[in-house]
Amino acid sequence: MALNESRWNDSYLVKREAYIVKRDAMNGQMDSEPSRFTNDASRATAEKTLIDCHVHLAALPDGDNGCYLSPKLLKSPLFRFLLWKHQFAPDKPREANQKYLDDLLGELRASRHVQKAVLLGMDGVYDQNGELNQVHTDFQISNDYVLKTARAYPDEFLAGVSINPQRRDAVEEVHRCADAGATLVKVLPNAQQFNPADRRYKMFYRALAERKLPFLSHVGYEFSLIGKDQSVGDPDRLKLALEEGTTVIAAHACSYGLMLYEKFIPTFHEFAKRYPNFYADISALTLPNRMRMLLHLRRYPEIHERLLFGTDYPLSVFHLAAWGRVALSTLRDILQTKNRFDRQVSICRELGLSFRSLDDIMVRPKL
Ligand SMILES: [Zn+2]
Repeated sequence: MALNESRWNDSYLVKREAYIVKRDAMNGQMDSEPSRFTNDASRATAEKTLIDCHVHLAALPDGDNGCYLSPKLLKSPLFRFLLWKHQFAPDKPREANQKYLDDLLGELRASRHVQKAVLLGMDGVYDQNGELNQVHTDFQISNDYVLKTARAYPDEFLAGVSINPQRRDAVEEVHRCADAGATLVKVLPNAQQFNPADRRYKMFYRALAERKLPFLSHVGYEFSLIGKDQSVGDPDRLKLALEEGTTVIAAHACSYGLMLYEKFIPTFHEFAKRYPNFYADISALTLPNRMRMLLHLRRYPEIHERLLFGTDYPLSVFHLAAWGRVALSTLRDILQTKNRFDRQVSICRELGLSFRSLDDIMVRPKL
């Protein structure tokens, strides 16, 4: 741990140094808006260089993309609403899937700040023997589809595969995906029905550490899953992965997602102090049910270096958090920013919340 820590610190100092050089070089050009650049992380957002580490890939099964939707989900009002809202034709899956990508590519290419998005897959539920339990699986976005899509648009997308550690071939899948160029591994324990603290997953976490693949885990309550075990969304259960040396990214900055109180705030602060390999993404923090965490974090600049940029696309980016907290002219700019990637950057920056880009913490030089 000590060695890792000093290596992390060294690389952080080198990066920090690089930012200071970049900032000094940029200062001349930024004279008109000096107050907007109040810290190193927000300076980095002055260019189209950010990576969004939390973008959902959605797809209908098209016969050979390995994706799945349960009959229950197909009939649900939320799913029907999404189809209607995005004008997807469920009887033409190939066209609908391409339309989802085209919409995302259009918005990403138009962003002033965000260069690339990590597309997230979704693994299923596995039984005690590590076999896929199709009955309990609501939907799957296959790793092959994520990898293939990222390969098709290398300037815009990175592959965020999903591997449920409960699957029998979890370790092999880590190596297969790493060899195929995956950037990180995403899980949603509440939906995938596994306990991240289960010690049987040690080898899985070691494989992630060995292949330098960050483990992005959903944290908190999951609304679409009423009736399932929500306690597995407790970030305390990520300790095992952290202690095995895996880089862990807690989604939504450990926000609980239930509006009234943020029960994981002490865990966030404790982990940030204790584990140099612990990070959190800022995705979905403008949502009314997670906004409390956003407002909390802006008061703790010392932990902003652990925050990574993310949106939770295709979710909306709300402007409620900015009301009464930024100047009226700034609020008007935010309201006029329709691009969700840019709106997330502006709101967080204007509220004084800094963040880093995923490539900033990756050990591998290429991104
Ligand atoms: Zn998400």
